[in-house]
Amino acid sequence: MEQMEAAGIAGDSVATVVPKDAQVLKPTRNTAIKCLKCDKVYIFPGDRDDCLAHLYLEHRLVIADVDEIAVLEDYLQYWEKEFQAHEFEQYCTTMFLDQLPDGSYAKNEKYFLLCDILPQDFELRQRLQEQRLNAALERHQFELTDRSFSKECLFCRTVVKGLRADYLDHLFDKHFLLVGKPEKLVFVDELLDQLEENINKLLCLYCEKIFKDRPTLKEHMRKKGHKRINPNRREYDKFFLVNYNRAKQAPAQRKQQQRAKRRSLAEDNVSVDFDKHFARQDSDGDHDSDWSDWAADGEPHSIKCLYCPLEEAQFSVLKKHMIDVHHLDFDAVTSSLNFYQKIKVVNFIRRQICLLRCICCDLQFDEFALLSDHMQQETHCSIGQRSNWDKPEFFFPYVDNDGLLCVLDDSVADGDLDADVVRIISEDSSAQINKDAEQLSLENFKL
Ligand SMILES: [Zn+2]
Ligand SMILES: [Zn+2]
Ligand SMILES: [Zn+2]
Ligand SMILES: [Zn+2]
Ligand SMILES: [Zn+2]
Repeated sequence: MEQMEAAGIAGDSVATVVPKDAQVLKPTRNTAIKCLKCDKVYIFPGDRDDCLAHLYLEHRLVIADVDEIAVLEDYLQYWEKEFQAHEFEQYCTTMFLDQLPDGSYAKNEKYFLLCDILPQDFELRQRLQEQRLNAALERHQFELTDRSFSKECLFCRTVVKGLRADYLDHLFDKHFLLVGKPEKLVFVDELLDQLEENINKLLCLYCEKIFKDRPTLKEHMRKKGHKRINPNRREYDKFFLVNYNRAKQAPAQRKQQQRAKRRSLAEDNVSVDFDKHFARQDSDGDHDSDWSDWAADGEPHSIKCLYCPLEEAQFSVLKKHMIDVHHLDFDAVTSSLNFYQKIKVVNFIRRQICLLRCICCDLQFDEFALLSDHMQQETHCSIGQRSNWDKPEFFFPYVDNDGLLCVLDDSVADGDLDADVVRIISEDSSAQINKDAEQLSLENFKL
């Protein structure tokens, strides 16, 4: 129990004794992580981004959904051992791009994606997630029974002592603020610190709009009924136990086999898998019939809308649909983007929709219908912020057989993409886009 208490105050302190598993949620200790391919060493968590950038720039390796990995340090250490004896090709999806990592032109450059379509990777991610779940449960158990808690109320001067539940009750009884039921929350201390910080910054706890002073903020929260936190906000994910238990939305084994079959037929064409797109949400296989009529040659027959399940044979028709129904003019919003940037946009949107997250604000939903309503109502059918999609992992198709990727280059009229435009938009490099050479291919999917 002593250890657990130490972890309880870890919110502000740096060097505390933390139970072994809890490190995974709140890495307070620096861990040296060796590069998966060379001898470079990075100190996590501080060097995390440098390490990922190095893997991409030096070794052309991209880790899919890296932000979702429960214990990235352990994940990297696992793969570092594997890659001592094996080449990237043996585990990764490979793809050829006609550009160097810095964006400059080069023919047929090979890139690697490490992702959970590989069963071994999927299992590793699952295992790490379980590890994190167990740590959260342990912490949760402690928080429910620990009576040494003490904190001044966010709103009045009262110091609440005893259980964390007493504090949450006080917030609700005296100030009508609903944070959550104690039995559903974890890392309550950190959550409360975060709420306190937001209130001090005059941010509404629910919509996070900023107000000019405290009375105006209070009035807003009262009037709008914003006296609760928004559990759909991803920043709050770690405070709700349910998120630790969320079944990993990954292809079931059977689906993987189907995909593998199709992929081997598809050769090196960019391809779409609508199965994965919606089937990820459940694994009962109800959607099998959705694509049973796919041609064996792997050539997509239709192009799926970015925001709804509609499929059209012609891109022009689909673009009109997106304008009419989703108020998104695809050509207009991507007019300043080059071919590879459009690829990233499409793959990013596919991923968000598949994970049931809003493209624009990243809110998480439980059902596609709710996400869809939200995006329509808030006009969030956009392409999202560049910082969200401009990542190397989105070079790789998120769904197989994505017909939209196949028509992207066709969508640009010849005159639209002159060299000047390209040079302006590729800020960080002197990228040269060779229109003829733009070719995206998948090969060698190891399953
Ligand atoms: Zn390296
Ligand atoms: Zn109070
Ligand atoms: Zn608000
Ligand atoms: Zn649509
Ligand atoms: Zn949104």
